[in-house]
Amino acid sequence: MNTAIEDGEFSLVYQPIVRLSDERMTGVEALIRWNHPTRGTVSPAEFIPIAERTGQIVAIGRWALREACRQAAEWRAEFPGPFTVGVNVAGRQLRDPELVGDVATAIAGNRLPPEALSIEVTETAVLDDEESNEALVALRRLGVKLALDDFGTAASSLGLLLTCPVTTLKLDRSFVESINTVGRQSAVATAVSQMASALELGSVAEGIETAEQRDLLRNLGYQYGQGYYWSRPVPPSRIAELRTADRSPAGV
Ligand code: C2E
Ligand code: MG
Ligand code: MG
Repeated sequence: MNTAIEDGEFSLVYQPIVRLSDERMTGVEALIRWNHPTRGTVSPAEFIPIAERTGQIVAIGRWALREACRQAAEWRAEFPGPFTVGVNVAGRQLRDPELVGDVATAIAGNRLPPEALSIEVTETAVLDDEESNEALVALRRLGVKLALDDFGTAASSLGLLLTCPVTTLKLDRSFVESINTVGRQSAVATAVSQMASALELGSVAEGIETAEQRDLLRNLGYQYGQGYYWSRPVPPSRIAELRTADRSPAGV
C-alpha cells in the first residue's frame, strides 16, 4: 500500500443518492477502490481497516478528499445547481490535526459551496472521543454537512446526537435488508426515521435493492435513498451521463 497513491492505483467510484419523493439524484457518495496491479480490485472493506491500523489512512483519505472535491467542481461546471458529494472519513483521520485545514483547502481551492461536501463518519469513530468531536465541530463550522454513517450498528449512544453536530443520519443497510419480513428491523428503521425528523436531521436509507424496500422506507419518512436499486457505485463519467439524462425534458 506504501506507493499505491504515487502509482495511481486508487480511484473513486460514485453511488447516486436519490430524493425519495421524486427519485431525482441529489448527490453521490464517493467510494474508494484500490486497483492492485496483480490482485485486481481490492475492496475498501479489506484495506481500509488495515490502513487505519498502520496510519496510512491519513494519506489515502487526504487523496480521496482532494479527488472527490476536484470531481465535484468539474461536475458543477457542467451541471450547475445543488449537488452533494459524500466523502467517508475514518476515525483515525478525525484525530489528524491537519484534517480540518485539508477540508477547508479542498473546498476553497475548488470554489465549492461548503454544503456541496458531506463528510461521512461512523458512530464508532466519534464515540467518547473529545478530539474527534472537536474536529466535527470545526468541520461543521466550515459549513460542510456531516453524516453519521452505518447508523444503528455501533453501541448507539443517543447522547452522541446531542453533542455531535451531525446534519444527517444514514440508516445502516443491515436494517434495510429484510425490512419487509423482519419486524425488528422495521421497528429500528421507524425509530431512526422519527428521531431524525424530531432532531431536524436529514435521513438516508442505505442498501435499498428493491422497489418494495424503497416504498417501505419512503413511507417511514426517509428523505433520501441509496442502493443497487438505483445504481451500483459507478465511474464519474457514468454519473455525468445520468445527470445529463436527468435534465433532459421528459420524453425527449
Ligand atoms: P459505507 O460508507 O457505508 O458505503 C456503503 C457501502 O455499501 C459501499 O461498499 C457500497 O458499495 C455498498 N452498497 C451500496 N448500496 C448497496 C446495496 O444496495 N446492496 C449492497 N449489498 N451493498 C450496497 P464499498 O464501496 O465496498 O465500501 C465499504 C466501506 O468502505 C464503506 O462503507 C466505507 O466505510 C469504507 N470506504 C469506502 N471508501 C472510503 C474512503 O474513501 N475512505 C474511508 N475512510 N472509508 C471508505
Ligand atoms: Mg459512507
Ligand atoms: Mg454505510
